[in-house]
Amino acid sequence: MAPDLGWFREHAGSFHGELRFDEPLTRHTYYRIGGPAPLLAIPRGEADLRWLRQGIDHSGVDWFVLGLGSNLLVSDSGFPGVVIKTSRLDQEITATPTEGESLLVRTGCSIAVSSFLRRAAQEGWSGFERLAGVPGSMGGVVVMNAGTHLGEACDLIESVETFNFSSLQSRYFSRDEMAFEYRRNLFLPAASFVMAVNWRSARQDPSVVRKSIDETLERRKSTQPVDYPSCGSVFKNPAGTGMRAWQVVDGLGLRGHRVGNAQFAEKHSNFIINLGGARASEVRSLIELAKRRAADELGIRLEEEVHFLGSF
Ligand SMILES: Cc1cc2nc3c(=O)[nH]c(=O)nc-3n(C[C@H](O)[C@H](O)[C@H](O)COP(=O)(O)OP(=O)(O)OC[C@H]3O[C@@H](n4cnc5c(N)ncnc54)[C@H](O)[C@@H]3O)c2cc1C
Repeated sequence: MAPDLGWFREHAGSFHGELRFDEPLTRHTYYRIGGPAPLLAIPRGEADLRWLRQGIDHSGVDWFVLGLGSNLLVSDSGFPGVVIKTSRLDQEITATPTEGESLLVRTGCSIAVSSFLRRAAQEGWSGFERLAGVPGSMGGVVVMNAGTHLGEACDLIESVETFNFSSLQSRYFSRDEMAFEYRRNLFLPAASFVMAVNWRSARQDPSVVRKSIDETLERRKSTQPVDYPSCGSVFKNPAGTGMRAWQVVDGLGLRGHRVGNAQFAEKHSNFIINLGGARASEVRSLIELAKRRAADELGIRLEEEVHFLGSF
């Protein structure tokens, strides 16, 4: 049964952001896959988050926080609740000199990594080339501890500003209050929105920063199927095996294997690509197939890096 969203329609006048009813989530995921949400809300700040909390409590609907949807597989039936998209929560970037050439760079959660990297290259802020080619938001980068062969986000994070959607309190996490592991944070309490992140950086010649970002992007283009929608790496590299996830998929002979319009990419077998019109159920079948066969045939437990939304 569709949830009753009457409260949101009635009180829409006091919301500063945008409300979209019956919104297809295909428009909000890199995969271009997923059914609708009865309401997608794009809040403009904490006051809007408080408003959303009131409506959610009143209506008894479920909710989900969405960044730029680059690490997300949404069910074909969608999500029967309120999707809260962070793209306008905080869009500011500031830099404060600390000592010598050192800087503290603050990024709002809503900034796309690609926009931020353009700014970092322009200004000559070092260290961020490790995020080159990661297509998410700066908030999503913290939640996922995103990174590349050059390093992980957590190496540069000085502090994180959050808003708790249960207690409606802001909280600041300093360096010694945070913990991360591979593609995961271990410190954010449930219902936390990452609002902004403070990064340690230093001044460097802008042309050096630009070159290093460009090299990383070139490397990715030549090794990853960037021409098709995907969620990036599907599986985490399995700990303690000495193997990379793509080697496991290759070991099972699944490179190029297809279900419907979803395929383990020929170019990089830890990417499942959408060849055009793929369904979430097809992507999920490939994931389950690889997990089952890795466990049965190789004794390896594959764990997903991609997050799921909705029922499968
Ligand atoms: C082509 C491609 C290449 C990729 N390459 C890489 C790579 O090299 N390295 C890498 O680490 N990742 C990679 N990824 C995965 C993805 O880009 C990262 O995980 C990214 O950090 C996700 O950010 P997002 O804003 O898109 O988050 P989403 O996909 O929207 O969400 C991911 C999770 O974070 C939560 N979330 C997002 N924003 C917030 C917030 N502000 N507050 C609280 N929770 C939030 C969501 O609820 C969800 O659980 C790739 C993805 C694609 C499509």
